[in-house]
Amino acid sequence: MSDQDFREFDPEDKGVTDISDEVIDEVTGNDKNHSNDEKKDNKTTEFCYICHRPDSIAGPMIKMAPGMSVCRDCMQRTFDSMGNFGFGGGDNSKSNVDMSRMPNISFLNLGSLFGEGPRVKNAHGTANAKDKEDRPAPAIDINNIIPPHKIKEKLDEYVVGQDYAKKVMSVAVYNHYKRVATGTMDDIEIEKSNMLMLGPTGSGKTYLVRTLARLLDVPLAITDATSLTEAGYIGDDIESVVSKLLAAAGNDVERCQQGIIFIDEIDKLAKKKNANQRDVSGESVQQGMLKLLEGADVEVPIGASSKNAMVPTTTINTRNILFICGGAFPAMDEIIKARLNKHSSMGFMADLKDKYDDDKNILQKVTVEDLREFGMIPEFIGRLPIVFATEMLDEDMLVRILKEPKNAIIKQYKKLLELDEVNLEFEDGALHAIAKKALDKKLGARGLRSIIEEFMLDIMYEIPKDDNIGQVIITEEYIEKKGGPRILLRTTGALPEKAAAN
Ligand code: ADP
Repeated sequence: MSDQDFREFDPEDKGVTDISDEVIDEVTGNDKNHSNDEKKDNKTTEFCYICHRPDSIAGPMIKMAPGMSVCRDCMQRTFDSMGNFGFGGGDNSKSNVDMSRMPNISFLNLGSLFGEGPRVKNAHGTANAKDKEDRPAPAIDINNIIPPHKIKEKLDEYVVGQDYAKKVMSVAVYNHYKRVATGTMDDIEIEKSNMLMLGPTGSGKTYLVRTLARLLDVPLAITDATSLTEAGYIGDDIESVVSKLLAAAGNDVERCQQGIIFIDEIDKLAKKKNANQRDVSGESVQQGMLKLLEGADVEVPIGASSKNAMVPTTTINTRNILFICGGAFPAMDEIIKARLNKHSSMGFMADLKDKYDDDKNILQKVTVEDLREFGMIPEFIGRLPIVFATEMLDEDMLVRILKEPKNAIIKQYKKLLELDEVNLEFEDGALHAIAKKALDKKLGARGLRSIIEEFMLDIMYEIPKDDNIGQVIITEEYIEKKGGPRILLRTTGALPEKAAAN
């Protein structure tokens, strides 16, 4: 596939996780296309009284009373739930109701009455078929996955450094989607390639996952582990991560089942030491996630984050969903150092005790043993077979992040000023000064944008005022607040079109 086939994107675009307008429209019933058709047909839209979906999505409605219609999905669910309470067929052994006198309504399948199969599993199938046609070709086709070195090459265009992390992820993704495409190989079930990514804050963990999902054109859901609690307690149920993914997939069950779920701040789930209370937001969440990580059928609500009787649900199998967990794991460096020092402090070969004190990338030496010591339970670690760490970003890496990626911040500002026919340059010293400021903030690359924005505000405000300005050079002095930027006027007599027009 040529590079042109791959649409340009901004991996910063949080749109991956957000519920698209279309999904919201589907759920709220604001179907724009439909409203056009509607005018043409001169027919009014009917909304389901229970799930509020319009008939364009939920199908023909059943009229209960004037102005009150219910879609077939909701009606079927009502019948089914009555069946569960013992008013119908199925397993009635636990019910006190005498079944022989009750109509057997749970066997009623509305789909068959209307001459269709069941609709609940893929209620939005028709809309998604159209979506599939509209979607541009992805950079990496998951059904015909390219070899790991090619995947890494694609990642290189956006992510600076982090070579080891990119290599590990490329191999894992390659194996994962090969496994998904083939099912099993020679009857040997290939294990899932779920990953655990450690690394300091702002080192690009989320960015790596986001870029990967965009390149693969698979839906991505990003969740914070701190918001999850054991089912039944205040907070999000563990299964809510799957419903987020379903929303990101535009309610397309098939696409959702091949997506990626990124659970950030996973270190916050560590087992509390000396805790004598039930730990509903830590160890219990690790326990609760085991089935999900391995592969299980979960029933998730369509278009909502929590299950209740009013929302239609669908079943998602998590077997082919790739789970990536990330965390900064503070204090893990002490655990690793202690282990390394213990091993090396005996015998003639004993090392100096402070040998690892200056090792900024000590997280990369993490082992399963260290993770257990930190408080992750063995069963949980066992389901994340690929463990790796991102590097701590240094000044040079931050400078490269400023200027090298396809969508680098500096390139974005240059482009903006180019539209005003002004050439923007940054002195090398200025870039290093920005990087130093970001390092002082200890926010990794996340601090870069806010620093640049602060300095660029005046420039972006003042430059468009004067059409004679042809070039702006951001100097080190300007960043260090000891001077101003260098501004050069146009040398040629030709004024930009905008000025001429005035
Ligand atoms: P983390 O999840 O590790 O805390 P993020 O992934 O949120 O950090 O990184 C913050 C921002 O820094 C990203 O949005 C991205 O713009 C930038 N960034 C971080 N690392 C890199 C990198 N290696 N290459 C390019 N940009 C990066």
